[in-house]
Amino acid sequence: MNDKMYSLCNQYKINLYELKVDFSGDYINRSISKFWFIRPASYKFLGEIYLGIYKDDELKEISFFHELGHCIMIYPENYLECTEYQIEKMAWKEGLKIAKENGIKFSSKTLKWANEQLKTYSKTTKIKNSKLIGH
Ligand SMILES: [Zn+2]
Repeated sequence: MNDKMYSLCNQYKINLYELKVDFSGDYINRSISKFWFIRPASYKFLGEIYLGIYKDDELKEISFFHELGHCIMIYPENYLECTEYQIEKMAWKEGLKIAKENGIKFSSKTLKWANEQLKTYSKTTKIKNSKLIGH
């Protein structure tokens, strides 16, 4: 991760953990995907962001901003009644706004990837019924 991201974490009082494993993401996906913490995915827990393993640095960076969005966004009062998709969209919006404010741009390929991630979330499952925590 670049210094800018660490300084943003510092600014927002967030601990950033970058997970590093010495083998390829494909292998991780195929063999031990049950262990969320080493999948090429990222999570947040209160004031902490855990970044998984990515082959592509830009995907890792945009994921960071998504998680930062979760950490910083103001969750709606009716949060539990919102759908997974609505909350995820808010986090992407907030995170990409911060990236933009900090002069960080992403390629259209990466933005497309982010949109694909968003589409995996349910537009009908409400947070109160969701099994997802911290995405
Ligand atoms: Zn998310």
